[in-house]
Amino acid sequence: MPACLFCAIAAGRVPADVVHRDDLVTAFRDIRPQAPVHILIVPNEHVGSIAEVGEERAELLGRMFAVANALAVREGIAVGGYRLVVNCGPNAGQSVGHLHLHLLGGRRFGWPPG
Ligand code: AMP
Repeated sequence: MPACLFCAIAAGRVPADVVHRDDLVTAFRDIRPQAPVHILIVPNEHVGSIAEVGEERAELLGRMFAVANALAVREGIAVGGYRLVVNCGPNAGQSVGHLHLHLLGGRRFGWPPG
């Protein structure tokens, strides 16, 4: 497998503004934030996209969402509301081939997305 940026960040080999790390997931601030709070939650092990996820990864998915919700509280965006986004494949604009959950908050978002 070619070198994966988010694998390297999760392993601590590439620097990032890490806000959470546990046995399953790592969370760090997006380098090009689209909102006052913009954090990425990624699996520590390599998973290419949400399309590769089935029932066997239920614990991982549960942890990703639980960490996102806990970070939303910690970042002060839980009461106002926030958005969780997973882009999958080219039409959705996925630009990094390692599953990541965007946690966005601190401003109002439009719907539907463009
Ligand atoms: P997506 O477009 O859903 O694949 O999201 C990838 C996200 O990764 C984008 O929001 C990028 O700004 C972000 N990103 C890319 N490289 C880095 C990095 N080195 N550290 C933090 N965020 C990054």
